[in-house]
Amino acid sequence: MSKKYVYLFQEGRSNMRDLLGGKGANLAEMTHIGLPVPPGFTISTEACNAYYEYGKQLTEEMRDQVMTALRQLEETTGKQLGNVENPLLVSVRSGAAISMPGMMDTVLNLGLNDETVVGLARLTQNPRFAYDSYRRFIQMFSDVVLGVDMYHFEHLLEGVREAKGYSADPEMTAEDWQEVIVEYKKIVEKQIRKPFPQNPMEQLFLAINAVFESWNNQRAIVYRKLNKIPDHIGTAVNVQSMVFGNMGNDSGTGVAFTRNPSTGEAVLYGEFLINAQGEDVVAGIRTPEPIAQLEQEMPAVFQQFKEVCTRLEQHYKDMQDIEFTVEHGKLYFLQTRNGKRTAQAAIRVAVEMVEEGIIDKETALLRVDPDQLNQLLHRRIDESAEKNVMAKGLPASPGAATGKVVFDADEAEELGNAGEKVILVRPETTPDDIHGIVAAQGVVTSRGGMTSHAAVVARGMGKACICGCEAIQIDLKAQRFHVGSLEIHHGDIISIDGSTGEVMKGAAKMVDPELSPQFQQLLGWADEVRQLKVFTNADTPHDALKAREFGAEGVGLCRTEHMFMDPARLPIVQEMILAEDDEARKVALDQLLPMQQDDFEGIFRAMEGLPVTVRLLDPPLHEFLPDFEDLLVEITKLQITAPQSEELKELEQMMRKVRQLKEMNPMLGNRGCRLGLLHPDIYEMQAKAIFYAAATLIKEGTAVYPEIMIPLVGHVHELQILREVVEKAGAMVMEETGVTISYAIGTMIELPRAALTADQIATQADFFSFGTNDLTQTTFGFSRDDAEGKFLQTYIEHKVLPENPFAVLDQEGVGKLVETGVRLGRQTKPNLKAGICGEHGGEKSSIDFCYRAGLNYVSCSPYRVPLARLAAAQATIRNAK
Ligand code: ADP
Ligand code: MG
Ligand code: MG
Repeated sequence: MSKKYVYLFQEGRSNMRDLLGGKGANLAEMTHIGLPVPPGFTISTEACNAYYEYGKQLTEEMRDQVMTALRQLEETTGKQLGNVENPLLVSVRSGAAISMPGMMDTVLNLGLNDETVVGLARLTQNPRFAYDSYRRFIQMFSDVVLGVDMYHFEHLLEGVREAKGYSADPEMTAEDWQEVIVEYKKIVEKQIRKPFPQNPMEQLFLAINAVFESWNNQRAIVYRKLNKIPDHIGTAVNVQSMVFGNMGNDSGTGVAFTRNPSTGEAVLYGEFLINAQGEDVVAGIRTPEPIAQLEQEMPAVFQQFKEVCTRLEQHYKDMQDIEFTVEHGKLYFLQTRNGKRTAQAAIRVAVEMVEEGIIDKETALLRVDPDQLNQLLHRRIDESAEKNVMAKGLPASPGAATGKVVFDADEAEELGNAGEKVILVRPETTPDDIHGIVAAQGVVTSRGGMTSHAAVVARGMGKACICGCEAIQIDLKAQRFHVGSLEIHHGDIISIDGSTGEVMKGAAKMVDPELSPQFQQLLGWADEVRQLKVFTNADTPHDALKAREFGAEGVGLCRTEHMFMDPARLPIVQEMILAEDDEARKVALDQLLPMQQDDFEGIFRAMEGLPVTVRLLDPPLHEFLPDFEDLLVEITKLQITAPQSEELKELEQMMRKVRQLKEMNPMLGNRGCRLGLLHPDIYEMQAKAIFYAAATLIKEGTAVYPEIMIPLVGHVHELQILREVVEKAGAMVMEETGVTISYAIGTMIELPRAALTADQIATQADFFSFGTNDLTQTTFGFSRDDAEGKFLQTYIEHKVLPENPFAVLDQEGVGKLVETGVRLGRQTKPNLKAGICGEHGGEKSSIDFCYRAGLNYVSCSPYRVPLARLAAAQATIRNAK
């Protein structure tokens, strides 16, 4: 039985995206609902896989099916591929199930040769158009299919233009193009040692193969990796009869979004070029006109276009990104897809579509990718401060960025990876620059519009981007650009504001972000739906307040070691550590207690009425002492310069202690509750500080709910002993102050043994907080810094691990321990409160896991709280389905 590999547009629907690719499925859908789509057919993604399995060739069967579909296309259009009197011309377009804009290659005007071009000229009575199309075809086909470098053609064309004194292509005449074509063919013959293929059938099959091949070109591979698109899904090929936007001034081509993809505002947004073919708009070669211009120049077409836009939006229930072409005043649709958008736009479009009754709240919540929200929580330029604006371009992707000017994508990548902040400045960008855009803070181009490559890619990544900034004149060779008389060199600092299009000299002043009303609205809906609570990790009142403003419902992790690191306190902390006996230690602890109490009062006040989980001291003590090697150098110096000095004696004492505390493997050494067991007075001081702070605030009438957390417990006995220490401190403070404090004592579950014996540990714990960072370290046996610095990258590249387990929770391994811990803990205490803290608490797939594992809350850094609220709502919705 033969398999169906080829589908006419009228045979497909939008739900066949996996088989037909996004472009093919949507062309079919638009055909189905009666829109003017040039007819054609799609060769399926299965054919792509078959092509690779069959040794990179089409099978007989596939070829036959293509021939049959072609015959049908010829019948529908009344034209024939290669027919001199009435030639059919087609485009051969790639399109995978997941859109990869500009990543793979397309060939237009296929079917032209030395003979059909004459027919086309006669038929259209427009020789200029015919020869222009032919030269475009030779150029594209040679580039995409024959592998001839574009540079040769561009170089030649530039020369011709210059010789003739033209400033732009529309000035070229039919005769000029004929001359160019002769030269183009010579270039091809020289480069590939074969003449340019004249047989249209051969052209077609070569082009189909080339699209399949382009699935594995370098930039497509990089794009897939970046966007986590699987390699095996393959691309479809669309063969579509051509329509022509380059037939004269009553023709043109454009790209439009049904709403503004940068802000989300519900206005048509796009660009249009008169007398041009599709590639001209996206390639950024000419800066196109805004779509409103179409209304002036072709009012009837514009009206029809607007109507169809509304219809497409209603049909797909989402913002559309549409390609269209006008041929002699007739409108054609060439592509529609759900438009890529910034986070800001995603939120606004989702909220407004609910208000307009197009989608419901749950759909709106699923529309916004939590990862994208980071963009909105970035700092932006302070409008009230002075700005040094030197030029203004198109505001192509919002966000503010400051960095050093670089002109080359490779360099941007190099410096970016080395941790430098750079702004990539280019005349225009191409898909080959993508790695540079990834690594840069932002992008500026001097040419190209809002739908140019740079703009689309930057919006997708949430990078600030300014396009078409024509005021800046880039000299790539000299590595500098001019704005009037101002000269900016490679390495100079500039700032850009992608929401206004302003390019500024130097580093602009930035301010903290706030949530827009629509963002608040969406998060309000998320709160109605979600079951997981969202807490924050905050060590200071400032962070706690910020998190509360973002909707945090408590502090899930307040780390006390940060308070110890404060430079004003470090000497006292060191005294405490260096103390030779309990007496001396007590002196230091007594000094630290009021300071800690002060800290806790601040954070309790900021979180009034909400729970605050305080973790007692966790890191190994040597972290508070000077570095061993630094000390050695200092001491050696002093031994020569001041052998009798007090300073030397002190340093030597410090050195002895540092040596004593030095551990082979501090991560698994004397830290966490082990420290508390060896020095119960430290934990006692911290507990007292917490209780005194609580008592003070309660007296003031402030509601506080302290939760005290013991880190790194592996055996129930550890917790049992330290629980007593804390309880004793509590009883003492309550008695002394006469204030009753309700509090809880819990533990971090961050060692496999703790998870495996959680039933026992739960007898001593009021709550569990899974410390998934340490739990990942101890489950994998990886030390995080070593892993991330040395081998994790290789692991991910070789697909040993799918992701960095410190960023995305390893559900199969670490997750199993979490599930076990919750299950066993609740065997002992059915209502045991359990959550996670650490970076995983702000990562969407980990949050989904937490929901499924039955946790009560996630805790994450303040700026991730909004993301976590949304992700928690999505977890509820998705898992209900
Ligand atoms: P990409 O995925 O890079 O956008 P496309 O396959 O959509 O590639 O095509 C590139 C350009 O060529 C687009 O502007 C598109 O509108 C135009 N185009 C594609 N097919 C045709 C056609 N049959 N007639 C006219 N223009 C076309
Ligand atoms: Mg396209
Ligand atoms: Mg830990």
